[in-house]
Amino acid sequence: MWLLFHRNAKTKVVRGGESFVETCPECGKRARFDEVEVSESFGVFFVDLIDDKERMFRCSACGDVFDRREPAKPAPAAPPAKSARELERERAAEEARRFAAEVRRREVAEAKANRIEDELAELKKRLGR
Ligand SMILES: [Zn+2]
Repeated sequence: MWLLFHRNAKTKVVRGGESFVETCPECGKRARFDEVEVSESFGVFFVDLIDDKERMFRCSACGDVFDRREPAKPAPAAPPAKSARELERERAAEEARRFAAEVRRREVAEAKANRIEDELAELKKRLGR
C-alpha cells in the first residue's frame, strides 16, 4: 500500500537503503524509488505520522515521497481456546441431550406398546363376547 507522504519533501537518500523500480502511483511512470530519510518537519499534523521505523521512498521521476506501509492485517480470528471446564460442561450438556432423547424415544416406544396392548385387550374382549 502506498501512501503519499509529502510532495517534494526534503529528503536524503538512505545510504545502503532499499531501492527498487515500481510504477509511481502519482506520476504513473515506472521509476526508481529510493529509500529516503525525511529531513524536514511538516508541522504538528505530520509529526505523529513520522516514525523512525517507517521508511519513506522517493520517486526518482517526480520526487514525491511515499510511505510504503504494509496494509494492517486484522489479527486472525482464532476461536478462543476453550477451557477444560467449558469442554466438560459441553460434554455434559451433550450427554444430557442424548439421555433426554433416549428417554423420549423409550417413552414413545412404551406408549406405542401400551396402545397395542390396549388394542389387543380390546380385541380379545370383543372376540370373547
Ligand atoms: Zn512519481
